[in-house]
Amino acid sequence: MVHRVRETALSDRALPESYIAVLGAGIGGLTAALALQRAGLQVRIFEQAPFLGDVGAGISVTPNAFKGLRHVGVAQAVEAQADQPLQQLTCEGHSGEILIEIDRTGVREQYGAPYLQLHRADLHAILVQAVQAADPDTLCLGRTCTGIEESSGEVLLHFAGGERERCVALIGADGLKSTVREQVFGAAVPDFSGFVAWRGLVPTTSLGDLPLESGSRVFVGPGRIFVRYPVRGGKLQNFVAFVRTGNWEAESWSQPAEIAELDAHFADWHMEVRALIGAAHSCHKWGLFAREPLQRWVTERVAVLGDAAHPMMPWFGQGAAMAIEDAVVIGRCFAAAPNDAPAALRRYQAARLERVTMIHREALLGGERLTQMDPEGLRRVPARNEDALGLFHYDPANVPI
Ligand SMILES: Cc1cc2nc3c(=O)[nH]c(=O)nc-3n(C[C@H](O)[C@H](O)[C@H](O)COP(=O)(O)OP(=O)(O)OC[C@H]3O[C@@H](n4cnc5c(N)ncnc54)[C@H](O)[C@@H]3O)c2cc1C
Repeated sequence: MVHRVRETALSDRALPESYIAVLGAGIGGLTAALALQRAGLQVRIFEQAPFLGDVGAGISVTPNAFKGLRHVGVAQAVEAQADQPLQQLTCEGHSGEILIEIDRTGVREQYGAPYLQLHRADLHAILVQAVQAADPDTLCLGRTCTGIEESSGEVLLHFAGGERERCVALIGADGLKSTVREQVFGAAVPDFSGFVAWRGLVPTTSLGDLPLESGSRVFVGPGRIFVRYPVRGGKLQNFVAFVRTGNWEAESWSQPAEIAELDAHFADWHMEVRALIGAAHSCHKWGLFAREPLQRWVTERVAVLGDAAHPMMPWFGQGAAMAIEDAVVIGRCFAAAPNDAPAALRRYQAARLERVTMIHREALLGGERLTQMDPEGLRRVPARNEDALGLFHYDPANVPI
């Protein structure tokens, strides 16, 4: 899905005298803009893409993330578009035998928010609309930031093409390969994790009479994981497959892949896995790279959030949730210190660094556990998953800042 958003040339557009610049219009940048707008601040988002859209894949909005979306005013719209899985089954990859069953029927009561799954493009579109509704001039597309200069009272941004802009503070929400992280906090060396991931979406009708449990299923086996869950009211099935391999793959989410290659990795797996791969017309793959957590995310007037601050392994499905939490907390910090960017950024780092570093480190270990030689071991060893770590209790709208 591509959202056509009005584009205005930098030279034609009057920027506010004093505003906070957000770099990147992904889930993190858009949520941050909304949180800042909610606090009454002027915001501009500079995004390199000339048009907005998002990858064709599903996303889990766990209760902690949902509380953040509620704070920025999009909860109703998100819930209306989402599926609510009432159970999550982890099964042995070949036989389908259930190893772990997580009942999610009481999630809303337990955590004060639902657990949802939806199409990423739908979540992205909701955030774009909300940002535009708050201020139609917020989004500045086709702007690739190439340089950042910070001085005592402002930040100067350099763009491809030679344009320059001044802002009172910069929030780098520019993702995995963040320019802000590299220029301000130093390059984090990506380390190939040994895992390659594939993703795709399949119309449920193309699966014929296949009996599909509602909710999500995780099939596990030595060196391999296959995750499936419904989106768009069950019309589509989202799948993500992970394979441990010695082959190095590019770190890009949008590299088209051969279905035959994926098929070969899961040749003798459960019929549900076979049917999903068999029904796929296209899929994408990417290599998973691990990075050490950053020790600091802020300077006087520059901060990073989301994947720019802490690109983490996907085993807990918490990458976007952490970006949303960061965004809501940074918005609240600016609301508490609207004329003092350095103080707002110090509060932001103090509130967020410890939690995210813990999740980042735990997420580094998750893949090893799920792809162990003996899947039965999952039953014996207590889980260190997102439920067990208590991640869903967190409320970014209310944590002390
Ligand atoms: C298949 C898949 C499934 C996932 N599932 C889940 C899930 O279920 N739950 C979950 O919580 N997380 C999930 N994640 C992880 C999650 O999607 C990411 O962690 C999250 O989207 C990060 O958001 P972000 O806004 O920080 O970065 P991004 O979404 O990467 O956005 C960065 C933006 O910055 C722009 N940009 C980059 N450089 C520049 C520049 N120099 N100048 C201007 N603009 C720039 C980019 O174009 C982009 O729009 C999943 C990831 C994948 C790939």
